[in-house]
Amino acid sequence: MTAHLLDGNALAQKLRAGFKQKAEILAAQGVRPGLAVILVGEDPASQVYVRNKVNACAQAGFHSEKYVFAADAAPAEVFAKIAELNADPKIHGILVQLPLPRHFDAEAVLDAIAAEKDVDGFRAENVGALMQGQPCFIPCTPYGAMKFFEEAGIDLKGKEAVVVGRSNIVGKPMAMLLMHAGATVTVCHSQTRDLKAHCQRADILVAAIGRPKFITGDMVKPGAVVIDVGINRLPDGKLCGDVDFQSAKEVASFITPVPGGVGPMTITMLLANTLESAERALGA
Ligand code: NDP
Repeated sequence: MTAHLLDGNALAQKLRAGFKQKAEILAAQGVRPGLAVILVGEDPASQVYVRNKVNACAQAGFHSEKYVFAADAAPAEVFAKIAELNADPKIHGILVQLPLPRHFDAEAVLDAIAAEKDVDGFRAENVGALMQGQPCFIPCTPYGAMKFFEEAGIDLKGKEAVVVGRSNIVGKPMAMLLMHAGATVTVCHSQTRDLKAHCQRADILVAAIGRPKFITGDMVKPGAVVIDVGINRLPDGKLCGDVDFQSAKEVASFITPVPGGVGPMTITMLLANTLESAERALGA
């Protein structure tokens, strides 16, 4: 058996076409969705992510602004820009690209973003609302992962879901979303005993670890749906996920590839959240 591929590029394209239409409708009512992206320093991966986000905005007909600060910029400069953007009616979403240089308190920077413009969903208000099942901005990566289930018609009710990774930006919100959708969720991490046994009983297996090809086919339950969030660069320069795609695809029923799986969906859901914020601003 070879798993069906969950194609993130195709799904992203489809969703973004819908966002473009909605953006034009909002623009006709006087509100064009606007995203501001702040980059501090010259981290090459961050530069690529920021460029991709700005390009995605342009393609979807969103307004975007990019602010780049030197790696040794004073935190006060960045706080001042965030305050300015918080008050700017053209801007519906503010994103600070992480990681920040060491002399920044990342939590304080994220907290400075107005809750109604926190399209990354990282502020405590958003996290709390997500936990309570209240309206909120859902963190983009797990939000994107959830869209695969919807698109493939995979019902999560009563399913055994195992999330490997417990970060604030991926693992924890992913677990919460799966739980809200009716799955029985186990969250594994570096201190989990017998990770393999946990993975082997997962109907839904989400890998968000940051270790190349860590989840191998023998850890996957036959027929499982495998969502690979990992993005790792191999010594030869190629990208790979946290799942060993070649062995896992022989066992799984559905699987996301890397690249071309969760990655394009993350930026797509950033657009979704920015659009939602613009709709809220308009009272739509
Ligand atoms: P973090 O480093 O913040 O978290 C990694 C998690 O994996 C931690 O909870 C850690 O456990 C757990 N872990 C590490 N080693 C093991 C192990 N041997 N066994 C079990 N669990 C382990 O990473 P992120 O959540 O930020 O990212 C995870 C991956 O997803 C990375 O590859 C990242 O590049 C990718 N990513 C992809 C995105 C996308 O758009 N597709 C967006 C964001 C991230 P512990 O808590 O105990 O340390």
